[in-house]
Amino acid sequence: MRNRKYNSVTILVFDGLSPDFIQEHLDYLPNFRKLMIEGSFGKITSTIPPITISCVASFLTGASSKVTRVFDFREYDPRNLRKEEIIFATRLSIPNIVDLSNYIGFSVGVFNVPFLSPLPKPSKGFVVAGFPLSEKSDYAWPADLLEELRARKYSPEIPQILPNSTDTIDKLIQEMKSRWEIFKELRERYRPLISIAWLSETDHISHYFWHRKDVILRAYQCADRILGDALKQTKKGSLLIVASDHGFMEHKSTFLINSYLKGKGLLKLRKGPLTVFKLLLTKTGMGLRQKSTLLGAITFRESKFTRLIEKFLISREDIDIEKSLAVSLGPDTEFCFVHVLRDEGLDNLVECLKELSIVEDMSIVKEWGQMKTTTIVLRLKKGYICSSLAPWSEKYLIKASNGAITGQHFLEGIAGLYGEGVRSGMEIHARIEDILPTALHALRLPIPDSSDGCPLVEFFEEGRIKEEIKTISKDRIIAYSKIRKLRRAVKDRDKG
Ligand SMILES: [Zn+2]
Repeated sequence: MRNRKYNSVTILVFDGLSPDFIQEHLDYLPNFRKLMIEGSFGKITSTIPPITISCVASFLTGASSKVTRVFDFREYDPRNLRKEEIIFATRLSIPNIVDLSNYIGFSVGVFNVPFLSPLPKPSKGFVVAGFPLSEKSDYAWPADLLEELRARKYSPEIPQILPNSTDTIDKLIQEMKSRWEIFKELRERYRPLISIAWLSETDHISHYFWHRKDVILRAYQCADRILGDALKQTKKGSLLIVASDHGFMEHKSTFLINSYLKGKGLLKLRKGPLTVFKLLLTKTGMGLRQKSTLLGAITFRESKFTRLIEKFLISREDIDIEKSLAVSLGPDTEFCFVHVLRDEGLDNLVECLKELSIVEDMSIVKEWGQMKTTTIVLRLKKGYICSSLAPWSEKYLIKASNGAITGQHFLEGIAGLYGEGVRSGMEIHARIEDILPTALHALRLPIPDSSDGCPLVEFFEEGRIKEEIKTISKDRIIAYSKIRKLRRAVKDRDKG
């Protein structure tokens, strides 16, 4: 029994599942209880900021956001703060699990993982992308699988979410169950050495229904039944890793950091009639949006409608970065990233930020995010969300910015290990970048040297996986994957 390696690993990710909610409702979640008793269970620290795109990048590469450099949903041009392309988890300069599987030659299964574009194409195994890919896109690989899923009317898209609608909740829960069934079917068919199943519905439900504990419990009970099935399916010699990419918390108040900086004279808007007009329109629009739950829901996700409106609203492009001392960029989370535009103003800025009573923690880093400048990272007290919208309000603290969104991402998620050889009843403290290295090491596969995660060896029985950790050069994997892509391009050209 000692020193036997695992013959397969399944990583099951429930998007946004919160450790505190599970602890508080354990009586209703028998399979999470079983996982805690028979396996090891605990908390995972998400990426900073804890947004799904950064988390996906870390799960697929075994690297933290410091290495992946995914800090936001979109890139910004540092010269004028103009929004650029959406960031995808498969456009990074470091290898992901599919690159590694192609290089070494093992099979891999990636199911419903968000932000996969371009679609990674394993030589052995399968990939089915999650949101925001549309059902019309080439969302699955190999090609015959895509055809089959299309024939079965499978869609990677999320159903439209209407707040306070029972119908929405039913649809999402039904969708979560059916995705799990399809994943199982594909895992059975392709028999991948490592598979990742990502279930996003718990995240969407938590955003819109965090104020309704009965609804959240329904979603967690659905996750619990899926977990029960996954535990049952973890046969001798296989390992199950359960994780969430971040947790959730109640969104009480929004902190408008750029409005605060403007109030303190540290940030300036451009002077001109257009900016004044946009400012007026934004104030009116934001007032309406706060009052209307439905309007909040419509404008939450990007659409043609929001892109049209955006043109008339104040944006970061209206910020005069020549005359400003600091600006904040980043997605809405409990973290604020204040970029120092002129070093001589740093002390002044720190003093201003220290005045804030809602700050839990403050640190100064050489650079963070997309701006290559000194950055002050603030973590706000629980319940406060930082919004780095362009300054549109005189007030800098407002009630939750969006009537429809009552739950927001939190830094702590869950992590669990289950299977023969896993120590029972241990409490896990993991980082998101540790998950992939743990899976690779359990299979005695090498870990790319671009990974800064560590295998969670302490939760396995003596001699089970404790041995030298093998690494592999990221450059070799990247070079191989480039050659592969070129070969395929030539093949496709010849065919065409
Ligand atoms: Zn997420």
